[in-house]
Amino acid sequence: MNYTEDDLLPISALQHLLFCQRQCALIHIERLWSENRLTAEGRIMHERVHEAHHETRDQVRVEYAVPLRSLRLGLTGIADVVEFHLDNPSGDDRSSQEAALAALIRKRKGAIAKPSSHRRRPRPVEYKRGSAKPGHCDKVQLCAQALCLEEMLNTEIPDGDLYYGKNRRRLNVEFDSELRQVTTDAAEKLHLLVASGQTPRPVYASRCDSCSLVNLCLPKTLDQPRSVRRYLEKAILQDEETP
Ligand code: SF4
Repeated sequence: MNYTEDDLLPISALQHLLFCQRQCALIHIERLWSENRLTAEGRIMHERVHEAHHETRDQVRVEYAVPLRSLRLGLTGIADVVEFHLDNPSGDDRSSQEAALAALIRKRKGAIAKPSSHRRRPRPVEYKRGSAKPGHCDKVQLCAQALCLEEMLNTEIPDGDLYYGKNRRRLNVEFDSELRQVTTDAAEKLHLLVASGQTPRPVYASRCDSCSLVNLCLPKTLDQPRSVRRYLEKAILQDEETP
C-alpha cells in the first residue's frame, strides 16, 4: 500500500522516533519544539549547507538541498547533499534516469536543470554537527533519503556518507538489507504513532539530559511511582478546572 501526498511525514521524525517515542510524539503530534545549543548548532549547519545550489567537482556533480519523497514509506524531506557520480553510460535506462534527475532538480525553486550526457549514480551525504553517535539514528535517516531517491529516480543506491562536522570525517554507510528493513519498520512505526494521536508517558533515562524538550516533557516529575503521579495529575486537572 502506498501513502498519499497528504500522509507524508518528515524524514527527520525517524530520528526523533528512534531517540525517544515521546519526543517524537511531542514534536509531531503535539507540535511542541524547543531549541537547545545542540539543535541550534545543527540547524545553522544545515542552513549553511542548503545555501549552495550545485557544483561539479572532479566529475562529481553535487546538488544541495534536494527535495525527497517516498510514497511507499510515506516520507518527505530534503537531502543536504546528493552527489551524482559518473557511471559507465549503458543501455536504455540512461535516458530515463537523466530525465528523472532533470525533473527532480527542476522541482527546486530557482534551480536550472542541466542534464548531463552520462548516466550518474546518486549518493546521499548527510551533514551532522557533532561526531558519530552510538545507535543507528543517523544511518536510518541517511538510508531513508536513499530509499526516497531510489523511488524517485528508479535506481539502486548501494551506499552514502555521513559527514561529521566535529572531526570533519565522512563515514561510509552501506544500505544493506538489514538497514533497509530497520528504516522501513521505523517509517511504519512513525505512521502508527502519529495516527494514534497518543503521546507515550515519559521514562527518565540518560538521553533526557541532551533532549531539547526536557523542560516541556518533565521526565523526572512525570516518571514517578503511580501514587505520586496520580496526585500530580489530579493537581494539574484541578488547576485547569479552576476559573
Ligand atoms: S526528556 Fe526524555 S522522555 Fe522526555 S522527550 Fe526527551 S528523551 Fe523523551
